[in-house]
Amino acid sequence: MGSLLLPFFCCSGLVMSTPRFSGGSQQRSAARLRGGALMAAKEFDYVILGGGAAGCVLANRLSANPANRVLLLEAGADATRDIRVRVPAVAVKLFKSDLDWDYETESTTALNQHKVYLCRGKALGGSSSTNVMLYHRGSAADYEHWVEAGAQGWGPQDVLPYFRKSEDNQEGESQYHGVGGHLAVQEVPYQNPLSRAFLDATGQLGHDAKADFNDWSTSQEGFGRYKVTQRRGERCSTATGFLADANGRENLVVRTGARITRIALEGGEDDLSVSGVEYITNEDGEARTVQLALGGEAIVCAGAVQTPQLLMLSGIGPREHLESVGITVRKDLPGVGEGLQDHPAVLVSYECKKKVSVTDKLQLFGSSKPNPAALLEWAVKGTGPATTTACDHGGFYRTDPTLPQSDLQVRFIAARALSSSGMKTLVQMGSGEGLKSGFTAQLLACRPRSQGRVQLQSADPLAKPLLQDLYLSEPSDADMATLKEGIKLARKICSTAAFDEYRGEEVYPGSAVRSDEQIEQYIRDSIHSANALTSSCRMGAADDPMAVLDSELRVRGVRSLRVVDASAMPKIIGGQTCAPTVMLAEKAADMMLQERARASVSQAMPAQEVAQATA
Ligand SMILES: Cc1cc2nc3c(=O)[nH]c(=O)nc-3n(C[C@H](O)[C@H](O)[C@H](O)COP(=O)(O)OP(=O)(O)OC[C@H]3O[C@@H](n4cnc5c(N)ncnc54)[C@H](O)[C@@H]3O)c2cc1C
Repeated sequence: MGSLLLPFFCCSGLVMSTPRFSGGSQQRSAARLRGGALMAAKEFDYVILGGGAAGCVLANRLSANPANRVLLLEAGADATRDIRVRVPAVAVKLFKSDLDWDYETESTTALNQHKVYLCRGKALGGSSSTNVMLYHRGSAADYEHWVEAGAQGWGPQDVLPYFRKSEDNQEGESQYHGVGGHLAVQEVPYQNPLSRAFLDATGQLGHDAKADFNDWSTSQEGFGRYKVTQRRGERCSTATGFLADANGRENLVVRTGARITRIALEGGEDDLSVSGVEYITNEDGEARTVQLALGGEAIVCAGAVQTPQLLMLSGIGPREHLESVGITVRKDLPGVGEGLQDHPAVLVSYECKKKVSVTDKLQLFGSSKPNPAALLEWAVKGTGPATTTACDHGGFYRTDPTLPQSDLQVRFIAARALSSSGMKTLVQMGSGEGLKSGFTAQLLACRPRSQGRVQLQSADPLAKPLLQDLYLSEPSDADMATLKEGIKLARKICSTAAFDEYRGEEVYPGSAVRSDEQIEQYIRDSIHSANALTSSCRMGAADDPMAVLDSELRVRGVRSLRVVDASAMPKIIGGQTCAPTVMLAEKAADMMLQERARASVSQAMPAQEVAQATA
């Protein structure tokens, strides 16, 4: 669908001359985000490794105090003005593009030897600049589980203030929602007739209608419209929301095109600390090192794949594995890279008898040309079909009533799949493949039990890591059971009277796939990623040998080093993972700033007064 939009956006004088395309303050702010007097500095109080969802939050919060010298290093570009990033319907152009790290899992027998494509954003904002913008927090119980897993201080009442702090909810303030934060949250200002039919269908089957999936006073179960991180129909990433707001601060340097290769350490295994960070730049390929100032910190925010990769490249990780690739062990931490989680997804897709799919709305009737009306509506009003990434309706469901909470998430898409894999479909759409009318239900095991791992292929910092056993790898087969029931539920929903006027042939899995065994094979063949990678360097209790971080996100046994990103989550949450990552970074920034304030008080005061001041 987005492929249809792109040529139009690039060449239409009409659209280019509308206020949303004329550059304006956002463009100027992005260009100036390069740091003032500190550009030539050799040492910093905070070095942030990766300018993604979490990194941009930290850059803003830590540099709010002008006394802190902050450096943000990001391998990707500043893509905040890029049409593929800004216009939701054009996001399909981001997959396997210059803004994607483009990873792949190793093949396993559980998946009938197919490899799973894993995209990760490579730009300021990271995956918050390339994701599909759904705003979910999971349930309160998800954070109770974090505490049970040893993450003290991360229970629902501890994290809620940080969700509210980060949020600028367009529907106003409430017990669960904040206004005035940096992350704009709204409903997609467009609803396709097929999405309305989906909600009618779930109502016909007796499921609850859900107005707010993030209201923790009620169960997460039910069906409705998801909220998204947009402002007036345009993506709000952490680069546009948080980093752009720090524009012009003299104490913040943002370096794009800087590929971090290693964290430089000093001391032995018992008194290890970070001395600096090594990176190479796009401009000249030269290796550079930046130093930490006395009392400074390095904060790894490279995401659930590259954060463990960077730690291992620096000698922090499982001894045996590091030695097997020829890396000198500086700190033996067996949990680095272990526990990687994702939401596995499969889909059910139908042809549509009427040309009402969102893809039909985005192209001129009977042609493959983009529909100028849809684009003009986005550009002028910030509404219409160009504001949707298509999966903004759905719900949560318990496939087994004895489960404590929902194990299945449904995402309804008012478009036909081009392949049994949702991610392949997006790549095909992005490369301009023909679009047919249809609709699709994507089924996610939203509280999966499987856990995989990140390992190194070699000591080469530029080599892609190995990603293993991420899906269907746990012995109870609970994730398979969830997905199987999901397919059955989707078929039930799409067979209701609400879809009678639209429903054509079932194209995936196809009507021949009926028995449990056949459905299971279809799942093994077609599992794809729902892009929620977490937990590969998780927080946990001091006596948990697999916990990499303490509850303040400090790497165990290494001074002046924290991990603040999705890899720190003790367990994946039931919902998409960007808002929880932003929350995590907000809370981490608060901890760090408080710690620094305590340290400066203690330098200035005798011990007794310090105890009183910080009590
Ligand atoms: C296609 C897609 C769709 C998604 N949809 C949703 C959704 O709808 N809702 C939702 O809540 N979540 C969604 N997510 C997930 C969400 O975006 C992530 O959970 C979140 O962005 C994770 O934040 P992070 O800071 O851990 O990592 P990222 O945001 O991925 O940031 C990591 C950053 O580190 C940089 N980096 C990595 N290695 C290096 C290095 N060696 N040197 C320098 N820089 C480096 C990267 O370029 C990147 O900018 C989606 C993700 C993807 C990819």
